[in-house]
Amino acid sequence: MILDSFELNGKVAIVTGCNTGLGQGMALGLAQAGCDIVGINQSAPEETEKKITATGRRFLDLRADLSSIKDIPKLIEKAVAEFGHIDILVNNAGIIRREDAIEFSEKNWDDVMNVNSKTLFFMSQAVAKQFIKQGNGGKIINIASMLSYQGGIRVPSYTASKSAVMGITRLMANEWAKHGVNVNAIAPGYMSTNNTEQLRADGDRSKEILDRIPAGRWGLPEDVMGPVVFLASKASDYVNGYTIAVDGGWLAR
Ligand code: NAP
Repeated sequence: MILDSFELNGKVAIVTGCNTGLGQGMALGLAQAGCDIVGINQSAPEETEKKITATGRRFLDLRADLSSIKDIPKLIEKAVAEFGHIDILVNNAGIIRREDAIEFSEKNWDDVMNVNSKTLFFMSQAVAKQFIKQGNGGKIINIASMLSYQGGIRVPSYTASKSAVMGITRLMANEWAKHGVNVNAIAPGYMSTNNTEQLRADGDRSKEILDRIPAGRWGLPEDVMGPVVFLASKASDYVNGYTIAVDGGWLAR
């Protein structure tokens, strides 16, 4: 039956940056659908671990600084040693730096591109190799942004990195579909997390943004739970290379 194709019992999902925000919401959604979770974080993910284990699923706490790709082989090895297989990867960890384009520094460029694009690609590559070795496909879900479609203001490296995410999501789908690997992305709209703290604290910008969201509210981590479960499940087997906006209608305006 159709609802059975959404369940994820016995699956293992890696979620990067799941100690807070959207990553925590997606890890919890995947656990509720049946996944054991491998969390890759810089900071302690205690709250997430508590929420995941309360669903009856297991949580493996791995730590790494994803501004570099050097730990990726070790992380995959540890996940496989613990669970025996990996079925889903959610590339969620991401950062943003705000500075006028005219003054924007090389460091603010490189730091953001490294986490948001470079690590996302090499993490996907490493997990795709594992999927191919396992021989029964897999699901990769990248976290894009409204700035995969639009220019934004004062965030040049973020716009570049998230536009890259939408592009390489398509490329990876093109190359790995033949192995049963689906690579899709979720583009969240304006969500209430640490990432948008500065925007929400600026009365004028906050009002400007809210006035443009047809849903009339900022998004929440719960809003990405359904979409990530869909993209991680059999229900989306024929969806590939696509970026789904979860934006309360922002792009429709
Ligand atoms: P957030 O609360 O700032 O979460 C970002 C996550 O990424 C945190 O878990 C953070 O861990 C992790 N992270 C950052 N740098 C890392 C590094 N070097 N190594 C390991 N982990 C690292 O913001 P969020 O809104 O939930 O963001 C999640 C994703 O959604 C990001 O890719 C973001 O760009 C994207 N997004 C957010 C919005 C929005 O409106 N909020 C909109 C579109 C897209 P630490 O706390 O340990 O640093």
